[in-house]
Amino acid sequence: MEEFLKSSPFYGFHISSHDELRNTEDRHRCNVCGQLGKYYCKNTKCGVSYVDIPKVRLPISLDIIKHSREKDSKSTAIHAKLASPSETNIYLFPEEDFSIDNPEETLLLFPSVDAKPISQLDCEKYKKLIVIDGTWKQAKMMVKSNKEKFSKVQKVCIQQKETLFWRHQRVSKYCLATIEAIYHFMIEFLAEKGQDSKSVDNLLFFFSFFYNRIQNHYTTNDIPFVRIPDYIKYETNE
Ligand SMILES: [Zn+2]
Repeated sequence: MEEFLKSSPFYGFHISSHDELRNTEDRHRCNVCGQLGKYYCKNTKCGVSYVDIPKVRLPISLDIIKHSREKDSKSTAIHAKLASPSETNIYLFPEEDFSIDNPEETLLLFPSVDAKPISQLDCEKYKKLIVIDGTWKQAKMMVKSNKEKFSKVQKVCIQQKETLFWRHQRVSKYCLATIEAIYHFMIEFLAEKGQDSKSVDNLLFFFSFFYNRIQNHYTTNDIPFVRIPDYIKYETNE
């Protein structure tokens, strides 16, 4: 288990140790396609030989519709695929077609006016969650151009949370990274079903690792992080 500092937003989370990630300096070969990757393979979206990625069992299967112009390096959708490979599918928009076989059992995570909070849903009914991955502008466009497909699907929203993402965006501090949105959805969904939610903390295995690495880099070298005001938690004497 990774020990987070008390000041960390991940303090108390049940996330596996980051030691293997921290200790690697080299790139390693992907078990499947042979490409080199430092932490995982962006090509086949799986682990590289030496990193044992903790697996997460999701309470609902996950389809991610990812805008193909969203760079892999800026997308956290892959974190879900790495943690829950058999339950997660990623479709590239607009190149790859996706179908919604059972719209009455499907939820779309999107804060449209007709979206309902999880507490107002009969969670036993739903078997699949669809998540849109892209910038806010891309996401709105993707929902619009799939309007027909989504028309019979219940939209769902999660409680407002502040993002911990290091990527600069101008929309709002409540605009979450894709993996954060997925994580918070799963927490609320499990709570609504009366099930233990600690089991999904490892969805943030990579996210919390990169978050820490960025925090450490800026605090250790005492350099300013200008992209997001007050993002770096510098030590204070207060
Ligand atoms: Zn690969």
